[in-house]
Amino acid sequence: MTSRVGHSGPMRVLVTGGSGLVGKAIEHVVQKEGGKLEGEEWIFLSMKDADLVDAGQTRAVFEKYRPTHVIHLAAKVGGLYLHMRENLQFLRDNIKINDNVLQTAHEMGITKVVSCLSSCIFPDKTTYPIDETMIHDGPPHDSNFGYSHAKRMIDVQNRAYFQQHGRRYTAVIPTNVFGPYDNFSTENGHVLSALINKTYKAKKEGSPVNVCGSGAPRRQFIYSLDLGRLIIWVLREYEEVDPIILSVGEEDEVSIKEAVDTIAVALDFKGKIHFDTTLSDGQMRKTASNGKLRSYLPDFTFTPLKEAIKMTCDWFVANYDTART
Ligand code: NAP
Ligand code: GDP
Repeated sequence: MTSRVGHSGPMRVLVTGGSGLVGKAIEHVVQKEGGKLEGEEWIFLSMKDADLVDAGQTRAVFEKYRPTHVIHLAAKVGGLYLHMRENLQFLRDNIKINDNVLQTAHEMGITKVVSCLSSCIFPDKTTYPIDETMIHDGPPHDSNFGYSHAKRMIDVQNRAYFQQHGRRYTAVIPTNVFGPYDNFSTENGHVLSALINKTYKAKKEGSPVNVCGSGAPRRQFIYSLDLGRLIIWVLREYEEVDPIILSVGEEDEVSIKEAVDTIAVALDFKGKIHFDTTLSDGQMRKTASNGKLRSYLPDFTFTPLKEAIKMTCDWFVANYDTART
């Protein structure tokens, strides 16, 4: 099987951001789960291969590998508290990275690009559940407006490439992702990875776990390997330019408190869990509908959250010395 989208022969897929949380998950699916078809080549890039903020380096790496397809994951990424400190840098770096990747792909005649948006770019004031038609309906949450506006422009740019050049470049919208190879920094990481590291340390030191905020905000968490499988499906089978939300169902949304309790069980932590309500809660919810995904893949099975958190904790403990902390 080859991609149905305007290309015959085996694909040569360039994955930008191939060394990160999502990139490593795609690599696992490709190499260990039979995700790679005969004759295909998959190239996973990191910042060491090219700084995609730079147009010349972007062009050079694309010319080196001459891909037929691109999965574009590279981005300046971080948790709530890093966003709040660096909105300008998130805006500028991501605008440049995205424009360099999309325009280079276009100039090189690349058939298909699948880029990555995020459910945190949705309007702050909205009705729930949010779906793919609502991305541009109002300003995003203040805490991450730089990242959000840069990401929203990918969708605008995809539509413009289609209108002006007939390119079928598209985007996926994952909700909160976690798994092996995440950034487990307690300062800059996303919530689950930061809390896994905090809980691991608290257990070692016999101290309480400090959770930021009230624990009341709710999130839909997707395990990186599930997301990897779905992104590969999008690359091969999804033909729309309009984006698609990749998420567990609304019924699987959990509070931060429930998430930290699950981590405590997975790491066998029996100490105190403290909620620091002087710190921001960020968005209280951003509940997304996975109805569109379900209309394409009604039978896709997501890894249950408890199981996925347990596997992530086990990975973190086993790889503590090399994990990003
Ligand atoms: P990650 O683990 O932080 O990985 C980021 C990747 O981007 C790394 O491979 C990094 O390379 C690369 N990168 C960063 N800046 C770059 C630059 N200037 N030039 C070239 N490469 C650069 O992030 P992730 O969680 O896998 O995120 C992947 C995509 O998913 C992003 O587009 C993100 O916006 C989206 N997303 C993530 C989440 C989430 O909860 N994590 C949720 C929704 C959407 P190095 O390893 O060399 O630094
Ligand atoms: P978001 O989903 O885009 O807001 O990003 P995060 O993954 O950073 O999740 C932020 C939510 O988790 C907020 O409600 C925070 O108050 C809460 N949270 C609790 N403890 C932590 C922590 O140690 N780090 C982070 N990043 N968030 C935390």
